[in-house]
Amino acid sequence: MAPEQFDYIIVGGGSAGSALAARLSADPTTRVLVLEAGRPDYLWDPFIHMPAALTFPIGSRFYDWQYSSEPEPYLNGRRIYHARGKVLGGSSSINGMIFQRGNPLDYERWAADAGMSSWDYAHCLPYFKRMENCLAAPGTPSEAFRGSDGPLVLERGPATNPLFGAWFEAVQQAGYQLTDDVNGYRQEGFAAFDRNISHGRRLSAARAYLHPAMSRPNLRVVTRAHTTRILFSGTRATGVEFVLTGPAGTIAGTGAGGSAPRQAHGGEVIVCGGAFGSPQLLQLSGVGNASELGRLGIPVVTDLPGVGENLQDHLEVYVQYGSKLPVSVAPALKWRNRPGVALRWALARSGPGATNHFEAGGFARSNDKVRYPNLMFHFLPIAVRYDGSSPAGGHGYQVHIGPMYSDSRGTVKLVSDDPFAKPALQFNYLSTPTDRSEWTEAVAIARKILNQPAFDDFNAGELSPGPEVSSEREVLDWVARDAETALHPSCTCAMGTGPLSVTDPESLAVHGVSGLRVVDASVMPYVTNGNIYAPTMMIAEKAADLIMGNTPLPPEPIPYYRHDSGSDAV
Ligand SMILES: Cc1cc2nc3c(=O)[nH]c(=O)nc-3n(C[C@H](O)[C@H](O)[C@H](O)COP(=O)(O)OP(=O)(O)OC[C@H]3O[C@@H](n4cnc5c(N)ncnc54)[C@H](O)[C@@H]3O)c2cc1C
Repeated sequence: MAPEQFDYIIVGGGSAGSALAARLSADPTTRVLVLEAGRPDYLWDPFIHMPAALTFPIGSRFYDWQYSSEPEPYLNGRRIYHARGKVLGGSSSINGMIFQRGNPLDYERWAADAGMSSWDYAHCLPYFKRMENCLAAPGTPSEAFRGSDGPLVLERGPATNPLFGAWFEAVQQAGYQLTDDVNGYRQEGFAAFDRNISHGRRLSAARAYLHPAMSRPNLRVVTRAHTTRILFSGTRATGVEFVLTGPAGTIAGTGAGGSAPRQAHGGEVIVCGGAFGSPQLLQLSGVGNASELGRLGIPVVTDLPGVGENLQDHLEVYVQYGSKLPVSVAPALKWRNRPGVALRWALARSGPGATNHFEAGGFARSNDKVRYPNLMFHFLPIAVRYDGSSPAGGHGYQVHIGPMYSDSRGTVKLVSDDPFAKPALQFNYLSTPTDRSEWTEAVAIARKILNQPAFDDFNAGELSPGPEVSSEREVLDWVARDAETALHPSCTCAMGTGPLSVTDPESLAVHGVSGLRVVDASVMPYVTNGNIYAPTMMIAEKAADLIMGNTPLPPEPIPYYRHDSGSDAV
């Protein structure tokens, strides 16, 4: 490919990258290039598009970067497996499709940091609304909070299995309340969840944003294009170097292929590589901690010690029970039933293949000291691990549970100057007293709910962790042995103005250089209370206006629920 000039080069056609590419290329005078390391999200591929197939891409090199953490010191030295989407749409093409904005107070927390005032809830809400078409909201109390004409169509989980009925009954028996919409006025409470599914198909960021824009002559999307380095002239980013990694990744219309490094030049480079890929690419390109880069022989462009610091995530366990009644969705997972499930989905986009199974759950405070919910629950009418393995072997149900804004912090650091070598991921899960005490509270609350009378007809006993795990010590030991990531790594190129911040809150520009921005889950200063796809997409929507110089959407200072005010808060 002859070096060609673009106005914007987007590295990573993932969740944020897809949204950004669609918004930026809406101006026909702007030339946008997207370089995605993974393959296309082929329309024929049921592993991407059939919601219930969500366990298949995990661990497959065709879709997944296949990361593992360093040995985690507080998890008995275990390495934690981290899936990340390596395909057009990025992680939104392989994720669980659960749509959670987080709590409004997450954004008040962001805004309380120096320079971050334009990231409070009032400023973020219009962008949450712009991205979505929430089918369940019209005519409900949360209508004012929800969008109705954005590209992301959101269905509400039907939650009709009788086990969901028992779950909603049980949370109330345990002293918690229902809420009509966890993404609306009141997050705290229990409800059916929104999901990125439309007409029985996964609606990834690529499908919602990128594909409808792909025919624009000013947008070029190249798959199997692994960006290896950002090019600089002094401290100004001028383009990127990339390698095409497969024949299908050749550039449309040119027939060009092969593995020789190529270059693309642009007015701006926007890195959307995700919480691992973005700090890795910055460090490979000389933007990071100068002494660490020096040790690897990487020439330093700017000394930015926060790159790859501040790594945050959600750790979770599955509290599982056997079911006396044969009502769970376990039969749909049996190998002999899968062809029928797939056929029904292929022909009618319905049946067990058309759901992500994460149809309901809720948010609660684990103690009276926290200002807003710090626990998220996903309830499933089946006992199964995320990778599809099931210890129940029969009918069962489970709750996924874990603290949502732990104060443990980790790092993403290069181990070599080889752009194809994975960086070292150290999370330090469970490393603080608060983290550990919230864990024992979380498991106790899950058990309290699952042992309410509403489950009497179903409860065949606890499968995991099992009754032998009872003291706080035993619970923590079990968490250390059994917990997995909820797959929400974030915050490694954090916005802010402090010494460890990486990106400017007003522009998402990388400090200390020009022509370079980061837009993805890595720019969050603090992980939000819930799954983080929706916050990532909100960041991309807001970033599009900041980058194009548009007048930002006006803030919407709308009252929302806070338990400590006794009423609403603005
Ligand atoms: C299995 C799984 C389940 C999840 N479930 C949920 C859920 O149900 N709900 C939810 O809210 N969140 C969920 N998440 C998390 C959520 O999907 C992600 O946090 C979010 O999509 C991240 O968006 P992003 O734009 O930051 O990164 P991504 O969407 O991961 O995009 C990054 C893109 O950059 C590309 N890339 C990286 N490096 C390079 C490079 N050097 N050159 C070119 N391209 C590059 C990648 O291939 C990828 O396409 C899940 C994540 C996973 C992996």
